[in-house]
Amino acid sequence: MTITKIIEFDMGHRIPNHKSQCRNLHGHRYKLELNIEGEVQKEVGRSEEGMVFDFIDVKTLLMNEVHSKCDHAFMFYEKDPVLAVFAKKNKSLKFVSVPFIPTAENISDWIFNILSKKIEIISKKKFHLQGIKLWETPTSSAFISKKN
Ligand SMILES: [Zn+2]
Repeated sequence: MTITKIIEFDMGHRIPNHKSQCRNLHGHRYKLELNIEGEVQKEVGRSEEGMVFDFIDVKTLLMNEVHSKCDHAFMFYEKDPVLAVFAKKNKSLKFVSVPFIPTAENISDWIFNILSKKIEIISKKKFHLQGIKLWETPTSSAFISKKN
């Protein structure tokens, strides 16, 4: 069984070497879809009976690990010559410095790794992160699934 949870967050970024508009400072309303796969829990009388993983707990995980870090933040590549200097001079603003160019593909990979490690710890092997899809615009997304 696969369950899906969606959150959204507003975040700025830029693609430093982009041939066109994406090199400018701009932002997106990102939409993150998370898929968790596992057995439906059958233990009678437990809060999670009939569930793979409680949607409330999925939401808490996503809010703590992604939303709180990224919402109303500006994500930049740590070697971006413009943003690295700007962020250093403006420490009161919310930045996320990352060791990669913040494309939808790379952000997806980053989020997938953070969440898969967290889920592995809390799932006790009852479920796992199957995949995530990160929407950068209503028509553009990156999808990454479990690496075996
Ligand atoms: Zn963009």
